[in-house]
Amino acid sequence: MIVIMKTYTPSEEIATVIQEFRNLNLTPEAIESNHKVVIGLVGDTASLNPDHIQQISPFIERVMRVKQPFKRASSEFRNGEPSSIEVSTPNGIVTFGLNHPLVIVAGPCSVENEEMIVETAKVVKATGAQFLRGGAYKPRSSPYAFQGHGESALNLLATAREVTGLGIITEVMDTADLEKVAEVADVVQIGARNMQNFSLLKKAGATGKPILLKRGLSATIEEWLMAAEYILAAGNPNVILCERGIRSFDRQYTRNTLDLSVVPVLRSLTHLPIMIDPSHATGFSQFVPTMAKASIASGADSLMIEVHPSPKTALSDGPQSLTPADFRELMQEITPLAQFFGRGATPEFVKSPSGAIA
Ligand code: PEP
Ligand code: MN
Repeated sequence: MIVIMKTYTPSEEIATVIQEFRNLNLTPEAIESNHKVVIGLVGDTASLNPDHIQQISPFIERVMRVKQPFKRASSEFRNGEPSSIEVSTPNGIVTFGLNHPLVIVAGPCSVENEEMIVETAKVVKATGAQFLRGGAYKPRSSPYAFQGHGESALNLLATAREVTGLGIITEVMDTADLEKVAEVADVVQIGARNMQNFSLLKKAGATGKPILLKRGLSATIEEWLMAAEYILAAGNPNVILCERGIRSFDRQYTRNTLDLSVVPVLRSLTHLPIMIDPSHATGFSQFVPTMAKASIASGADSLMIEVHPSPKTALSDGPQSLTPADFRELMQEITPLAQFFGRGATPEFVKSPSGAIA
């Protein structure tokens, strides 16, 4: 249930109303949007009568039930206002969200060694990325395939962060590694295969770190949003959704099927920012640029692109990785496109923590 307070309601009145809700054993969450305070109520609201809630204060404008099973993730919960997720990186604050420039996340599938990760970080930074991606713990279909270098790879990501100032996005697969991953990552990734690992979702949510939640291999949109709800319910409002292609019947010419229709669908359902990963979606580097451009046209807030200095010798996902030259070319193509769609980088795109332009 959400309670929309009238514009310019005095803050003391909002505090009194919040206390009233607590007295009813509800968990109120107040969000300011469009000069209004919206109070989301979580708990056993089924038995509450909205008319009675309305009578708590003359400053209550409207009381509405959230019909969706995903409460905190729903658009209604923020009165239709999209979330902006600010991530602090050494280079400054980068914001994911509908009213912000496109955020570019790039890097190899796996962190292989210091030279490759630092060199790739330098290249993607010089080309305009704000985040470096790279796996330390890899979810591989075969137990005999390269599993990632683990903790030592996290240290290499920390080095790349130090050298370039890029934010780091890396995956956690196991709750046992969460603390180590959260220490290095500016955004913690939960991969497609763990989208419904509910204990991992709860614990990752509790770290307070922004979470990148990839869509499960065959997850419905509702299952995906309910997974996001686990993180939000753990008290962490900073969830970014990442579409990375869903399982379909063709495995020969595309690795997955990129479901770009999720962009408008998610926009209608949720306030959370949306990232698209055309690399895992298509599985082949030659198709990545087209789908990256289509992602921008569909309104995505961010792109995740796999880039490797030598895709032919990559320890994982070489076929879908762009070379640095391919990536540069792609960035040249998408820069005016992002501008055309109103998502171009502004001089203030990356703000230093003090608010000055970095
Ligand atoms: C990845 O980003 O490296 C990855 C394994 O992705 P996904 O979980 O989407 O397969
Ligand atoms: Mn990969």
